Amino acid sequence: MTNPPLDLDLELVRDALSTSTLSHGLKIIGDHRTAEVVLGAFMGKRRFDDWLASVKIPRPTLAERIKSLVQMDVLRPRMYQERPERYAYHLTSKGMALYDSVLMIWDWELKYGEQQKALPGRLIHKGCGHAFHPELICSACGERASMHDLTFALEPNAKLPHDSGDAIRTPRLRAASESQFALGLRVDRWSLLIISAVVLGCQYFDQLSYVLRIGPGVLSKRLASMTESNLLTCETDGDDARRKRYRLTAASRGLFGYIVCLATWAGTHHFREPSSIRPTHKSCGQPFIPKVACSHCHQPLKPWEVAFEAPQGGAA
Ligand SMILES: [Zn+2]
Ligand SMILES: [Zn+2]
Repeated sequence: MTNPPLDLDLELVRDALSTSTLSHGLKIIGDHRTAEVVLGAFMGKRRFDDWLASVKIPRPTLAERIKSLVQMDVLRPRMYQERPERYAYHLTSKGMALYDSVLMIWDWELKYGEQQKALPGRLIHKGCGHAFHPELICSACGERASMHDLTFALEPNAKLPHDSGDAIRTPRLRAASESQFALGLRVDRWSLLIISAVVLGCQYFDQLSYVLRIGPGVLSKRLASMTESNLLTCETDGDDARRKRYRLTAASRGLFGYIVCLATWAGTHHFREPSSIRPTHKSCGQPFIPKVACSHCHQPLKPWEVAFEAPQGGAA
């Protein structure tokens, strides 16, 4: 990782994170049960009972999550039986646009997750006929891009509301069985926001506490658990032994694709406002709009062009 920029403006980072489409997008779609329903839809689930049988979400919670996805225009109900009334739920075009985020979740889970059996073992691109890994590319130039290839301008968008800090103080623990498809048992909304703050240059405890409005007690628990799950490394600062410095690991850098795809989806398809965090692709100089492409033929991927193979008792 690079050193934090010398002119890090913590006030600006705090405003930008709090009004980012990432923060708001994770709130509407990032909760693990909502994510499970969306992932299920991309794996072909259409009926209430299909989800119920596979995702281990209690019936009322599942009904409530499906209802909220319908209200968000991510899923659309179609009646397939009149008496009693039964509906199948199809992804809308707004829902389909979540595909890049979903591919990034699969990719991350296969590399770093704990629940690999619940995921497609291998992805096949029908366009070229090859097994592939999803890779992040720049829409403008088509080149592969990782977070190291981007710069970030912070322009807090006044049209996006500020996050209230309250939600941060009540981290929820969840049972392992609840999260079959979601993004790792150990990765929740606040982990992703902490990772984003580190990406923006906040590497010290006091900086993270300030920009994310998280009190020291809760933050130290969260950072300890992220360090334990290998999402961060922690070292004492060379100049001041009392200062702890946090850096990303391969696993947390691997989450960047999901972070940038979800933030882009939320800005483009849900809030219809540019995010307060604006990435630029250094090599082509254009605003970075992510796309996910096939690692074999490098073409962007469409949901209907991808087939799954079941896991074959191990890593694909
Ligand atoms: Zn580019
Ligand atoms: Zn391909």
